[in-house]
Amino acid sequence: PIPDYSLTDYLFRNISKFGKGIALVDYLTNRSITFDQLYEEVDNVANNLYALGLRTDDCVCLYGTNVPEFAHVVCSVTSNGASLTIANSQLTAVELAHQLKATNSKFIFTTSECTERARTAAQIYHKLQEIIVLGNQTGFRPFSNLTERPRIRRQESHIDPKKHTALLPFSSGTTGLPKGVELTHYNLVAELSALSHRLFLPFDPKSEKSLSVLPMVHIAGLVIGMLNPLSQGASVVTLPRFDPQTFLEAMEKHRITFCLIAPPLVSFLAKHPLVAKYDLSSFHTPYSGAAALGKELTMQMVERLKLTGIRQGYGMTESSPATHTTPLNGYKYGSIGIPLPNTESKIVHIENGTTLGPNEPGEIWVRGPQVMKGYFDNAEATRTTLTDDGWLKTGDIGYYDNDSDYYVVDRLKEIIKYKGYQVAPAYLEGILLSHPSVGDVAVIGIPHGAAGDVPRAYVVRKSHVSGEELSAYVESQVAPYKRLRGGVVFVSELPRSASGKLLRNRLREEFLDKDSREISQS
Ligand code: ATP
Ligand code: MG
Repeated sequence: PIPDYSLTDYLFRNISKFGKGIALVDYLTNRSITFDQLYEEVDNVANNLYALGLRTDDCVCLYGTNVPEFAHVVCSVTSNGASLTIANSQLTAVELAHQLKATNSKFIFTTSECTERARTAAQIYHKLQEIIVLGNQTGFRPFSNLTERPRIRRQESHIDPKKHTALLPFSSGTTGLPKGVELTHYNLVAELSALSHRLFLPFDPKSEKSLSVLPMVHIAGLVIGMLNPLSQGASVVTLPRFDPQTFLEAMEKHRITFCLIAPPLVSFLAKHPLVAKYDLSSFHTPYSGAAALGKELTMQMVERLKLTGIRQGYGMTESSPATHTTPLNGYKYGSIGIPLPNTESKIVHIENGTTLGPNEPGEIWVRGPQVMKGYFDNAEATRTTLTDDGWLKTGDIGYYDNDSDYYVVDRLKEIIKYKGYQVAPAYLEGILLSHPSVGDVAVIGIPHGAAGDVPRAYVVRKSHVSGEELSAYVESQVAPYKRLRGGVVFVSELPRSASGKLLRNRLREEFLDKDSREISQS
């Protein structure tokens, strides 16, 4: 059964026995906070926010680079019955103002490097009442004022876990405009209790440490990178941004055991020369999600770091986010594992909606207590994404094998159709990434007359290699219909979203804009 608690109640009930243990560490300043301190400070911040006028059903925005105080913000805002929207630190002032307006945010919490943009956004969106800077800043209300003894104590807000929205993240905007997602206290408690199951992401509070380098203003960074280890009494070390040396130093110095990563970090760990200079022997669980992970590349990383395997998770903002994870005792390369406890999953035929059997690709559908209440202020999108009986249509193509282990093929919208065959761009990207000269890659389908679309690769080179060599490398490993008939184009950088996802639609648009003319002439 899923506990009927608010998010903060769930967290503090779980960690009450770890009082003197270290909850959070800011890697750059070495500032650390024990669980006892966290509890006391959250209570103070919650009371001070109440004194500032925060009430049930209000919304607060968190916009910044990772610092330990994100934990205080999540707990103090939601324990007042308000919801927290999270905004990537790379958003421009205009984009931020848009999110503040859409969510009717009352306050914003930010960090020093984002303060200027938050201030500009506040000039566009006039209803913002406070800008609260985390860390030691002057000029705005500093966070330390809020952690001091409160002027008044809040009235206990009545939180109905199934009704009240705790988090209001936005989807990454990979396939269209980002959509606001309403996650209730119940959704998040269900997700955390499922993740902590001994087969999925359990933590030993005495010996384990997680490093949060991916943005904690993204749902995965927040729930999987921070709240899950914290809720089990493990420590979380935060880094505001990735740079190779600081990341590796933090891993070594803190004897990190767990890290939420994404495919670009797998590539870094597999290939970057600096990695060999550090002692990463404590690191046993790289947990990757957010995008498809190539098998070759994974094997390179596992071999180099002498791991027993890599763990993978799959999910969406709409499902808090994880629905599938590779279980501790049954890792298979390329698989996203099995549904989490209390979660159901099935594969549905794209055209006729029938349920498919093993090894038959179709759309992945999921159902479980972590699935969102709905999209924020968008009943239309909610209706087309959630079925009447509670299934979430993921928009991803996948299948399960004879052992019921699931695999993601690619997004439904991005599958390349060539002469009636289907080619998954992610599959070709995985192969190309295993080539030593390839630093980054995106594959898209480009129009090719009556045959449909053909795959073309956009490659960021790490060392010299020709397009012909790369085409031949792919050709030697794939069925003939999957060859790179659209050619290889070398670029200096690929378009990625703020959360680091490949924006293949951007490349497609650019192609349609200019390259298509040149192709049709050749
Ligand atoms: P939008 O919905 O706004 O277009 P988005 O779908 O990228 O953006 P998120 O909710 O952050 O926003 O991402 C969820 C998606 O990420 C999934 O639907 C899936 O396509 C992809 N994804 C997540 N985990 C994996 C994984 N392990 N392997 C492959 N793809 C994954
Ligand atoms: Mg999506």
